[in-house]
Amino acid sequence: MTVRRQAELGANLAAVRARIAAACGDVGRDPAEVTLIVVTKFFPASDVRLLSGLGVHDMGESRDQEAGPKFAEVRADTSGLRLHFIGQVQSNKAASVARYADVVHTVDRPKLVAALERGAERAGRALDVLVQVDLDRPDPTRSAPDGAQLPAEPGRPESHRGGVASTHALDLAEAVAACAHLRLAGVMAVAPLHEDPDPAFARLARTAAAVRARFPDAVWISAGMSGDLEAAVRHGATHLRVGTAILGSRPPLR
Ligand SMILES: *Cc1c(COP(=O)(O)O)cnc(C)c1O
Repeated sequence: MTVRRQAELGANLAAVRARIAAACGDVGRDPAEVTLIVVTKFFPASDVRLLSGLGVHDMGESRDQEAGPKFAEVRADTSGLRLHFIGQVQSNKAASVARYADVVHTVDRPKLVAALERGAERAGRALDVLVQVDLDRPDPTRSAPDGAQLPAEPGRPESHRGGVASTHALDLAEAVAACAHLRLAGVMAVAPLHEDPDPAFARLARTAAAVRARFPDAVWISAGMSGDLEAAVRHGATHLRVGTAILGSRPPLR
């Protein structure tokens, strides 16, 4: 069973690495500058161990209640893992996430910056942090005529993808940079559903450049998943977050 799963993960991993190499080749990038984060949410600790054995050091998780216990277990016997938290962080979960995550990709509001800073300080840790940018096109039904934001509509896909408007990304980056226990690493985004990812990732690249102009060390661009990693590579992604193409389909949510 384990041997078969290991072979399956190994083959999928090789296929994804080949896709990344081809995408880099198309635009003259060195694949060594692109980090593959394997998203292990919904999959067991045993898969994380197999992936580690296959040379994967960067893992992504999106739910605190799952990631905390799973990585406490895996880390007891596996060294060198870097855990990337890629899900929405409720402010009351920030202290928990700050105890075990190495990188938080989804910082999208000042209140969360403050909560992560407090959590990291209390845990005696330093966290790498990315500002999550909302790439969904401005939707006229979501803003009032005077430009004020109406509350997000629950149930709409974009309303729980999160992210700060690109116009506010620099302000949030400033807030992160002011924190002693947070290191501003760059920006992150999820491409909008049902839309060509290329123009969306091009927008992200522009926001990333603006942040980098102010904070030269903030060079990460976390973008691209199983379905759109080629587009992300074309637009300068440094970190890809790939789940399904390596681990298979996740069970439906709840
Ligand atoms: C689940 C998830 C991924 C991985 O998506 P796949 O399509 O399975 O590769 C990437 N990024 C985020 C933010 C996710 O929640």
